[in-house]
Amino acid sequence: MNLQKNKELIFQQVAAAAQAADRSADSVSVIAVTKYVDSDVTKQLINTGVSHIGENRVDKFLAKYELLKSTGVTWHLIGSLQRRKVKDVINYVDYFHALDSVRLASEIQKRAEKTIKCFLQVNISGEKSKHGFRIDDVEEALQQIAQFDKIELVGLMTMAPQAASDAEINTIFEQANKLKIALQNKKIKNMPFTELSMGMSGDFKLAVRNGSTFVRIGTAFFE
Ligand SMILES: *Cc1c(COP(=O)(O)O)cnc(C)c1O
Repeated sequence: MNLQKNKELIFQQVAAAAQAADRSADSVSVIAVTKYVDSDVTKQLINTGVSHIGENRVDKFLAKYELLKSTGVTWHLIGSLQRRKVKDVINYVDYFHALDSVRLASEIQKRAEKTIKCFLQVNISGEKSKHGFRIDDVEEALQQIAQFDKIELVGLMTMAPQAASDAEINTIFEQANKLKIALQNKKIKNMPFTELSMGMSGDFKLAVRNGSTFVRIGTAFFE
């Protein structure tokens, strides 16, 4: 595993995918998902020039945050969050990617000491195992979340089903981007919806083609 080489390759591929979609390379941020490695390797990765770190579990997030907060990187909590753990972590998070229920939003409102930048997680495919709001439920959820002034909805987050073909993934990402643009155009207070969090190691090129602004990449850094 050569972290520097992998980092450069990933950033090049993201930039190339952006250019192919007539987008500037800097319109897409790469979040390095470090859930597979310890704090030492994460530190080495930060030294290669990665400036966004993502973790999907609260305990691992907090351990790395404590050791590496002085590096000044941006911290993303990308995985589903249990309500009872909100108080432990939410005030250290720069971006929370998995807001998947109104009850969770209510708990964040209660515990937040600052405005928390959140992504509304949507389940475009309707797959049962996936977290997130169904498209049909988004509007009602937004009406309820609007009462929580500590929550800023910066965008949508979605994941493609694991077994999906490229064509299916492309359709899902296209739908997510359409929904994001529609919500952005509504110009709702505290809900700018300028961002789209989608794309992982296996599908980030399709995500960038379809408007993703944050790709969450783990495996490809550590091969
Ligand atoms: C692990 C994880 C990723 C990264 O997936 P890779 O396939 O390893 O790139 C992205 N998003 C979430 C929510 C994850 O849990």
